[in-house]
Parts: sequence; structure tokens; C-alpha cells
Amino acid sequence: MTEQTRSGLRELQRLDDAIVAAEKRVRELELRLAEVERPAQDLDGEVGTTRNRLQEMRLEERRVELAGDEKADRMKKLEDRLQGVRNVREESAVSAEIEMVRRARESDEQEALSLLDQIRRLEDRLEEQSEALEEARSEVAPRRKELEDEREAALAETGRLKENRDAFAETLPTDELRLYDAIRVGGRRALAPLTEDGACGNCFTMIPPQIQNEIRHGSELIRCEGCGVILVAPLPEDLEPDPVPEAEADEDGAEDEVVEAESADADDEGAEDPSA
Ligand SMILES: [Zn+2]
Repeated sequence: MTEQTRSGLRELQRLDDAIVAAEKRVRELELRLAEVERPAQDLDGEVGTTRNRLQEMRLEERRVELAGDEKADRMKKLEDRLQGVRNVREESAVSAEIEMVRRARESDEQEALSLLDQIRRLEDRLEEQSEALEEARSEVAPRRKELEDEREAALAETGRLKENRDAFAETLPTDELRLYDAIRVGGRRALAPLTEDGACGNCFTMIPPQIQNEIRHGSELIRCEGCGVILVAPLPEDLEPDPVPEAEADEDGAEDEVVEAESADADDEGAEDPSA
């Protein structure tokens, strides 16, 4: 493995770490969006429930009214029949039926009134809930827009990073790239520098001195027996303590800080020019 390939793989890992951080940011923004939207969503659910209930009640009320109309028709027919009865027995039978239908109709009317009353109350409730929903929506609208814009930007950034990464990966030798990708599966670290005292920078397994020597000066690609990462000679910044993120509270700077904090070799500008 040439020095150029080593620095190429380091750069590739730096780009991949940046993609992981950008994707994490997208997920975080999506969670925050969901949180901001939740109160309005709950209210929206309540409005939907009331609206469905109201529709059911209106249908029920309509059904009761139709039943009442039917009974009115029937009473009209019975009254006509009453005019043509031929004897007292027939008359009392028809009268009894008229009385029965009349009572049933009264009960329908009562039911219709009670339904109308419930419908009015549901309409009031729906109005209150709809107002609360509108209020909740307009209250969170600016914050929501802000988060949506941030998410769009983070998505665009992720896309841009991936394009850069793929273009850069094409400049690397196929075999090394394939190995790197195989180790990197699932976002695992694929490449690690030796530590100052000669251990694997990923799992801290001690590396025998002659192998350390080969890693530092040889041309063979050597993987850690403990964790499988490709081992590379440390650059000066690998031996410095991890940079402490300065501005965790600063949202705009957070993304860059994450990249630096997660990948110890984030600052190799110049020394690691990918086109070199
Ligand atoms: Zn290791």
C-alpha cells in the first residue's frame, strides 16, 4: 500500500465520518420536528374523532327522521281506512293501530330532539377543538418552518458529501477500496493510526514492534488482529489529545464539531490533499 493510498483512505474515512455526522443531524432534526408537531397532531386527532362522531350522529338523526316520515304516511293510510270501516270491531282495531303508530312516532320525535341536542353540543366542541388546532398550528409554524429548512439543508449537505465521497473513492485503487468498504460496513471504523506506544488506535491491542515498523515504513497493507481495521502510521495530529469541542451550545458550529470530535484525523488539510 503506497503512502498515497494510505492518505487517500484516511481522507475517505474523514469524508465517511462527515456523512455519518450529517445523517445523524438529519435524524435529530426529524425527531425535533416530530416533537414540535406533536401537540397539533394530538389536537388534529381529537378534531377527527369529533368530526366522525358528528357524522355518525347526523346519519342517525336522519334515519330517525325518515322513520318518523314513514310512520306519518302509515298513519295517513290508517286514517283513510278508518273512514271505510264497516263495523265497530274493525274500527277499534284500526284505532288501536293508529294509537300504536302515534306513540311510536312520538318516541321517534323525542329521539330526534335528543340527537339534535347532542349534535349541537358536538358542533360546539368541534369548533372549540378546531380553534385550538389552528392556534397550535400557527404557534409552532415559525419553529416548524425553521426546522424544515434546517432539515432540507442537512439533507442537501448529506447529498453533497456523498457525491464528493463517491467521486473521491473513484480515485483510489480498487482492491484497497473494496477492503475499506468491507470493513466500514455499518459505519464501523475502517482505518486507525497506531497510538504513540504502538497499539491499535481503534481497539488498543498492542502491535508487535516489527509489525509497527512495517506499518510505519513498509508498503504492505496491515490489519489489526484484534479488530480488523487497516493500521496506518500516526500523523502528528493523531498523537495529540482529542480536540475538545469548543461550541457545543452553538448550533451552527455543532455539525463541524461533531465531525472533529468523532474523527481524530479531521484536520489534515494540506498534508492530506486528496489530489496529491
Ligand atoms: Zn484493533
